Amino acid sequence: MTILSIVKHPADILETKCQPVKQFDSKLKRLVRDMQETMIQADGVGLAAPQIGKDMRLAIVDIEDEHGLIVLINPELLSSEGSQTDIEGCLSFPDLYGEVTRPNGIKIKAQNVKGQFYTFEADGFLARAILHEMDHLDGVLFTSKVEKYIPAEELKGADEE
Ligand code: ZN
Repeated sequence: MTILSIVKHPADILETKCQPVKQFDSKLKRLVRDMQETMIQADGVGLAAPQIGKDMRLAIVDIEDEHGLIVLINPELLSSEGSQTDIEGCLSFPDLYGEVTRPNGIKIKAQNVKGQFYTFEADGFLARAILHEMDHLDGVLFTSKVEKYIPAEELKGADEE
């Protein structure tokens, strides 16, 4: 496995609407594994393909709960409900944290690494992490949604996505 380098803001790829994934081959499987290694090494809870320089609608999330690794390929938001406001960070913005309001509950449709479609429901922090990654695939950065920045020294050990 390979640790990939994480693209930091500013970079055009981070503000690009990414292209759908069409090839579900061994290369894709390997990329997902490398992204997982990279995310773990960076102590993140999510990583999107543009953050490692790839123009692909692919992201992974793992908040270390019972769901384990969630692979989001060509994800679509089917429905959402409620709202939650909490602190977010991003691996592409080291030491930057802010409060972001997002839906509290979501239902999504996506493909797995084999190309099989699945639907998935999440709420709370997991929904937040998934929505943060899905935004990356549209070139939308959390800084465009921050309502209030929080000084990093107040947030030792916050999760980054
Ligand atoms: Zn991010």
